[in-house]
Amino acid sequence: MPQVLIKADDLRVGALSPRWRAFLEFCAEKGIHANVGIMGGWTQKGGDDDHPKPAEAKEMLSWLLAQPTLHIWNHGFTHLGDRDAGTSEFKGASAEAQALAIRKTQDRVEALCGARMNAFGAPFNWTDHNTVVALQQFPEITYSFYTPYVPGKVNLHHELFVTCEPFAGESKPGAPRRFALEQALARSQHFRDVGRSFVLQVHPNRWVEGSLQDFATFLETLTAQGYAAGTIESFAEQDLFAGPQTRARPLPHRMAGRNQTNAASAGAATNPPARTSTPQVTAAAVETPSARPHWTQKVPTSLRRAVPEAWRKRLRGTR
Ligand SMILES: [Zn+2]
Repeated sequence: MPQVLIKADDLRVGALSPRWRAFLEFCAEKGIHANVGIMGGWTQKGGDDDHPKPAEAKEMLSWLLAQPTLHIWNHGFTHLGDRDAGTSEFKGASAEAQALAIRKTQDRVEALCGARMNAFGAPFNWTDHNTVVALQQFPEITYSFYTPYVPGKVNLHHELFVTCEPFAGESKPGAPRRFALEQALARSQHFRDVGRSFVLQVHPNRWVEGSLQDFATFLETLTAQGYAAGTIESFAEQDLFAGPQTRARPLPHRMAGRNQTNAASAGAATNPPARTSTPQVTAAAVETPSARPHWTQKVPTSLRRAVPEAWRKRLRGTR
């Protein structure tokens, strides 16, 4: 049975907002597995011990972990990021600083509720090589979100992610977003077509009115198609690469060889070719552009996407 991993980001320890409460209570009541990313810092900008809320944090975590279908994972400590510089807790920081940020959240959550988290996902999904190094210090963390490869971990690569939360108004960090049902359906289509498991990344604390309803409708659609919401552990046990009905899609640069094989076998009926130990490749096949690896082919200008204005401004700013 294919699974959807609901990855809900940005629950700050001890800060259960009404929106978070509505989302978590909905999932708990309906028995939907939801996997919640926790930041261990009391505030985004404060130091380690500014504005502590240990009582609220304890209450929040013990309620959350008492629900059979709610689970937590490590989402860093402060969630601070500089979009202009492209730096954050896990991008551009030393391996030591990154390990410390992971450790502070691991330790605080364990001190508050006794749970040692087994998964990590960086704020903004921004990581760098030092994140890979830092994660090596945490044998108990066996799952890593959005990273292509971290030795010794199960990596849930970004290719598995579906995101569908456009900004409801102004596009800026922390602004309200809407769970867009039509986008969720469109962006999960290629997974649903072949019954493949995928990660649904959401930010319930940013949701505008009506989003929870659309989220529920999306889950109903998935259930009707044979999907179940899973835990990180059960999700990782799925065959994440292909469903049973996955159609073979040959890489473009293999097409030339394939056509040639077809031509050869078509001719075989009347004129069987002599057996050779190595495949025959004609000079024509090597020289035609379609025989080259597809990544060396230039993208036609008509297919290139225009650079959004906001990016252009940022690129100008860095020069
Ligand atoms: Zn986040």
